[in-house]
Amino acid sequence: MLEFRHIAHAYNGTPSVNDISLTVNEGEVVTLLGPSGCGKTTLLRLAAGLEQPLAGEIWLDGEQVSGVQTITPPEKRGVGFMFQDYALFPHLSVIENVVFGLPSKGSLATKRGLDVLAEVNIEALADAYPHELSGGQQQRVALARALAPKPSVILLDEPYAGLDSRLRERIRDQMLHVLKATKTAALMVTHDAEEAMFMSDRIIVLREGSVTQTGRPVNLYCQPNSAFVAEFFGEVNRVDGVVRNGQIETPLGKFNATAEMEEGDPASIVIRYEALRIEPDGNFGTNAIVIEARLLGRASLIHLSVPTGTDELHLHARVPGLNSFGEGTRVRISVDVAQAFVFAAN
Ligand code: ADP
Repeated sequence: MLEFRHIAHAYNGTPSVNDISLTVNEGEVVTLLGPSGCGKTTLLRLAAGLEQPLAGEIWLDGEQVSGVQTITPPEKRGVGFMFQDYALFPHLSVIENVVFGLPSKGSLATKRGLDVLAEVNIEALADAYPHELSGGQQQRVALARALAPKPSVILLDEPYAGLDSRLRERIRDQMLHVLKATKTAALMVTHDAEEAMFMSDRIIVLREGSVTQTGRPVNLYCQPNSAFVAEFFGEVNRVDGVVRNGQIETPLGKFNATAEMEEGDPASIVIRYEALRIEPDGNFGTNAIVIEARLLGRASLIHLSVPTGTDELHLHARVPGLNSFGEGTRVRISVDVAQAFVFAAN
């Protein structure tokens, strides 16, 4: 449906993205995920036809729409947009906003407008004006407007950025159902890993203008290819060690080195907060002391200290619900190796 082939781009000679290849297949939701400044918005603007590539090609529905020499303007691409400032026209009613960009006019356009408002569950608001709507309702009007011309691909730039967290969960759930029901392909931008996992069939993780890893949410979460990706998908502890006889010795025990590691190499173990298991007593694992325990709502965050002989290792563990660990409690901890990742130290 949408394909980037070796795309490069620069702003006034300063590179923004480099050698990006990606595809969005029919009906698929693909997310560009990465920290601020990594090039997500630039890629979306390239897809929209708002920026021209320095190298490479962009193909849409079997046609080349961007190249170094040629560029199809945004309005001729059959692409829907929902950018952060999804400004609705304040002087137009909801239905007028939705039909504004449709090629057909009159009753045909109105019928399409009402149909798409029904798809996003706000047909009752057709005659209201934007200032009469809540933030979530305005968001849905913007989505309806983007979907009205039946685009083959819709581009979503941080579509929930302006909403509070409860509303965001509701709206994104609805957005996902609408995209799937209408089989609309989407390329979305976010810096929020949980949002990306919620929405996406596939996620493309970007760092400094290049792709670092692409995969289904479960692959990225369970098999990150770098400490950067692991850290992006959840809070982590980092424990350092050195390779000895194919294993990395750490204060938390031994971890298997990867095939490329050699004797004496420094390595880091990246351990998710939820990978630390805590037992009040027992005869396995490592000795630790609870420094502090805080309830965060659905989970508790436990601060732990592990004596390492000369020093101490400060670790964080996340455990479900309320916990009963008092300050100073001696515990044993162990690591769920499925959520601990070994990388060469950098
Ligand atoms: P993201 O969306 O991931 O935050 P952007 O695509 O906005 O990243 O930016 C990528 C890089 O391009 C950044 O280094 C940013 O400073 C730069 N950049 C973005 N927009 C412009 C612009 N209009 N002019 C010059 N540089 C820009």
